[in-house]
Amino acid sequence: MNVRVRFAPSPTGYLHIGAARTALYNWLFARKHGGKFLLRIEDTDLQRSTEESTRSIFEGLAWLGLDYDEEVVFQSANAEKHRAAARRLLEEGKAYRDFTPREERSDANIKQEIAERARRAAAGAESKINPYRDLPREESDRRAAAGEPFAIRLKVPREGRSEFYDIVYGKQEREYAEIEDLVLVRSDGHPLYNLSVVCDDIEMGITHVIRGQDHLTNTHKQILIYRALGAPVPQFAHLPLILAPNKAKLSKRKHGEVVSLTTYRDRGFVPAAFRNFLALLGWSPADGKEIMTLEEMIERFSLEGIHRSNAIFNFNEHDPRQ
Ligand code: GLU
Repeated sequence: MNVRVRFAPSPTGYLHIGAARTALYNWLFARKHGGKFLLRIEDTDLQRSTEESTRSIFEGLAWLGLDYDEEVVFQSANAEKHRAAARRLLEEGKAYRDFTPREERSDANIKQEIAERARRAAAGAESKINPYRDLPREESDRRAAAGEPFAIRLKVPREGRSEFYDIVYGKQEREYAEIEDLVLVRSDGHPLYNLSVVCDDIEMGITHVIRGQDHLTNTHKQILIYRALGAPVPQFAHLPLILAPNKAKLSKRKHGEVVSLTTYRDRGFVPAAFRNFLALLGWSPADGKEIMTLEEMIERFSLEGIHRSNAIFNFNEHDPRQ
């Protein structure tokens, strides 16, 4: 198989060491299989994306020695293609227009609705269905033509369950009733994350999606989008979290500079040693070797060797300078 993987950071802050490790695993996997490692900057959140953050991603990858193949993709440049994909799903009846006024679609309402659906599903009752899902086509076209704003939502099956096999976490299942008809394009024309990621991964020919386990629930939704678009579904490998010694999620607010990759560069750490340290935060080679040259690491790397349990980053005691 022609392996093609990508690192897809959102440039909304410093480069987190968890993200750096995601990049490293993708890179090792590509190099091991003679595949391609691609970089996609997910700069669709215009308010939060900064050039400084994009620069820290480039610098961080360069410092770790992770070279990427092909041109960098900036996701915001593909927004029109993402909208076109949603329009196609609309044409094919796989998505529908939701004319609910925006103010009624607050996050709180949506959360409440999801909770409600899950409760009903658990009780075996019919879940709450979006009233626009079954709006007759002519009526929907007429309201759109009259200029009424609408979001585009994917039709999620009403029955059955979503299943996929994750290379790290094994079989994953979720009842469709728990998945709300997801918004693909907002009423202001902004395509949303799940749609953009899937469209770009299809276009870039991605074969394996290797990313943080915080995306496990999104994967169910993304697979629905692949299927609706008639595209092959890649393989997925989700990575364990990196936690602080007290098992809290690593965050800049709580843990300060230790979460940022540039800290280590600025403190004069040797990139090769830091790369080795990062690699072992959540993966072990089959032979247990702890200090590896890059070639030794590439040779030993496998997704099967990634741990399911979260990694603890002992930044108080452990000195990655070795
Ligand atoms: N941009 C997303 C993030 O930074 C990652 C998307 C993905 O890997 O699919 O969390």
